[in-house]
Amino acid sequence: MSTIDSPKSGGPVDAALMADLAAAARILAAQGVVDGFGHVSLRHPQAPNRYFMSRSIAPALVTPADIIEYDLDSNPCNANGRGSFLERFIHGEIYKARPDINAVVHSHSPSVIPFGLVNVPMQAMFHNAAFIAAGVPVFDISRKFGATDMLVSDGVKGVALAKVLGKNDIALMRAHGSVACGPTLQTAVFRAVYTEVNARVQHWTHALAGGAPMAVLDAEEGKLADGPNQTAGMRAWDLWRSQVRASVGW
Ligand SMILES: [Zn+2]
Repeated sequence: MSTIDSPKSGGPVDAALMADLAAAARILAAQGVVDGFGHVSLRHPQAPNRYFMSRSIAPALVTPADIIEYDLDSNPCNANGRGSFLERFIHGEIYKARPDINAVVHSHSPSVIPFGLVNVPMQAMFHNAAFIAAGVPVFDISRKFGATDMLVSDGVKGVALAKVLGKNDIALMRAHGSVACGPTLQTAVFRAVYTEVNARVQHWTHALAGGAPMAVLDAEEGKLADGPNQTAGMRAWDLWRSQVRASVGW
């Protein structure tokens, strides 16, 4: 697409917000949620039909200058020769389907992947992962698209993923990874981190239980614990954000 065909920007945003988004990518790398792959995005705070995400680059290397603005069809407004992630449609289509979601993380975090491969649902093992008690659907790309390269690389596949996500905030992607969403950047990052931690705890608990029942959070406990988490999660964010600031100065 030439510059002349690019969608218009939703307008300027605070530089601190772009620094937070770049920092979020580095936080997710530091917490073992993303590695060379994976991405985090943020809806434009004034223009709900636009979102921000870094150019196609390893998350641990992202700087504020790498952030590109997109419309919800995931066309870049200001690429200026910078490459876009192939799977950006995950983000655009979730923003279209879910006006309540303002940030999305896509990762291939390894402890989560087994739950997309076997018929054992993820369950909320402890209070920090309370959001999981609402249920974690599994998107199997082959159900609608047959054999593929597994990537959500166009709008049609993004729509199918958003449909499986439904009203949930987390979805697994069979033999690929997961998405974690939230009303704020901080909450989406918190959920992505604790989805990975919860998966580890569930593997340990499952092994320990040896088939005995596991006393996981039920749906009601999940609801009660998730509200306070969204505030308490800010303590984790403040820690992680200060670590990025100490290392790069922004
Ligand atoms: Zn992926």
